[in-house]
Amino acid sequence: MRAFVTGISGQDGSYLAERLLAEDVEVHALAHDAEPLPDVPDVELHRGDLTAVDEVRALLVDLAPDEVYNLAALSSVARSWEEPDLTARVNGVAAAGLLESALLVQEKQGRPVRFVQASSAEIFGQPDRSPQDESTPVRPVNPYGAAKAYAHLMVDVYRRRELHAVSAILYNHESPRRPDQFVTRKITSTVAAIARGRAGVLALGNLDARRDWGWAPDYVDAMVRAARADVARDYVVATGVGRSVREFVAAAFARAGISDWEPLVVVDPEFVRPADPTELVGDATLARTELGWSPTVEFDELVGRMVDADLAGQ
Ligand code: GDP
Repeated sequence: MRAFVTGISGQDGSYLAERLLAEDVEVHALAHDAEPLPDVPDVELHRGDLTAVDEVRALLVDLAPDEVYNLAALSSVARSWEEPDLTARVNGVAAAGLLESALLVQEKQGRPVRFVQASSAEIFGQPDRSPQDESTPVRPVNPYGAAKAYAHLMVDVYRRRELHAVSAILYNHESPRRPDQFVTRKITSTVAAIARGRAGVLALGNLDARRDWGWAPDYVDAMVRAARADVARDYVVATGVGRSVREFVAAAFARAGISDWEPLVVVDPEFVRPADPTELVGDATLARTELGWSPTVEFDELVGRMVDADLAGQ
């Protein structure tokens, strides 16, 4: 079996590559020139730009993969306000090109190609119900969410053309491999630095934002299950438990053995976003019942693993 993965150098790409290689799947990945080489040996790397749709199509036809995982994205919601057009091209239009190419491979080969789009809870914007599920209206509130929403809708369009296309609506998923630009890793790395006497304060934006934080390898597992399920459909992938940024901060300091943390945290307007969903919590009942999926790491354990990794690394 052969898989084609975009976004290989990201958190999810590295976990997915490890998972597929362990199953003896041949893993091919697309990475652009500026992208660091993935940490996973045995991945066959192809240099190219996802937005160069014709080149990607030629590569895909040549490789004729059985599974395509589109994880590539400009992943920062905050940065999407600075580069809305680039975000649209990478997170939206490129997915459309990849879907078309996957369908072409399927038609040429005369066998199914399975396609998984890494979608995002941000497609729901500021939903008026919580938790959200697959029937929640798609109504994004930032350029990142709007671009992901377009890709999400195109998955449905191609599913109607007989492609086994799945949109995995991923809620926030974290690990020690999460980059510092995300609030969880920013918190755990700064808390570790404070515990080591290398930093004085933790500067954050909205402490009241609530997110549904899960363990990244679990979310990769959901994507693989969805690719291989008998029926192609969209799935919310989430723990169902919402926590505030403040709760994450408290748990991280507790793990590092610091109880009086409030004086160590400051709110900096630089990190407060123009339009930020206040509460995103997902209902993954469908993934549980149809895919036999469930999250394996709860909140305190997740925070603990990230803080421990940062303490060990500093
Ligand atoms: P996102 O949900 O995909 O945008 O993931 P992030 O980890 O970047 O942000 C999660 C939530 O934390 C959002 O509601 C942010 O507004 C909030 N937040 C509060 N302070 C910060 C901060 O300093 N950095 C980041 N990245 N997010 C912050």
